[in-house]
Amino acid sequence: MLLKKERELVVEYGKKMSAAGLSKGTSGNISIYNAEEKMMAISPSGVGYFETAPEDVVVMDLEGNVVEGDKKPSSEWGLHTVFYVNKPDARAVVHTHSAYCTTFACLNMPIKALHYVIGGAGTSMVPCAPYCTFGTPELAEVAIKACGKGKAVLLANHGLLTCGPGIEKAFGLAVNMEFCAEMQYRAMSVGEPVVLSDEEMNVVMEKFKSYGQPKKGKEDQTSNCY
Ligand code: 13P
Ligand code: ZN
Repeated sequence: MLLKKERELVVEYGKKMSAAGLSKGTSGNISIYNAEEKMMAISPSGVGYFETAPEDVVVMDLEGNVVEGDKKPSSEWGLHTVFYVNKPDARAVVHTHSAYCTTFACLNMPIKALHYVIGGAGTSMVPCAPYCTFGTPELAEVAIKACGKGKAVLLANHGLLTCGPGIEKAFGLAVNMEFCAEMQYRAMSVGEPVVLSDEEMNVVMEKFKSYGQPKKGKEDQTSNCY
């Protein structure tokens, strides 16, 4: 079986995403990219996360060809490949319809730096890409454009996308972006939120590089953040 480890991780994190309430039903999707093999393992379209087995996960190249797997790949495969093509450090992409992120996506409003953990996205604001129909090349194009140098982007009237140097980080970022969106929603509902300055967010992002336990050996060296 090609990309066995990546397929198992797609299954494991799909269950985590579902259990964490980040994606209802079969919404959302996950992929992991193997840069040596130049292939990604992506969740199958419309299959429940607790019903997905490693052999259901589809292996594709970045041109969109299915290399192995009997199932139809996620309808958002093009949204995933565009991030691997344009972000050489990306090794995992997580797409959710999590409630608070999607609330702001439906308002076509960005998530701002109300809480410092937004710095995990590598920017002080998570932008919202313009609306395009799900599963289209147009959505992929506007999403990567709006995302810029960051690791997270809202998709108007749709949801959230995060990427990272591994599935643990990409998933953790999706969890934290949902937290930030919830704090923004709550803060806006009782008053005028205080937004942290870009200067302070630069300090935070620098500090994230050494957050947590020291890194060992060949582990991801890009960021320790959350
Ligand atoms: P898939 O089940 O095809 O991955 O689609 C879910 C989704 O969120 C589309 O945007
Ligand atoms: Zn979606």
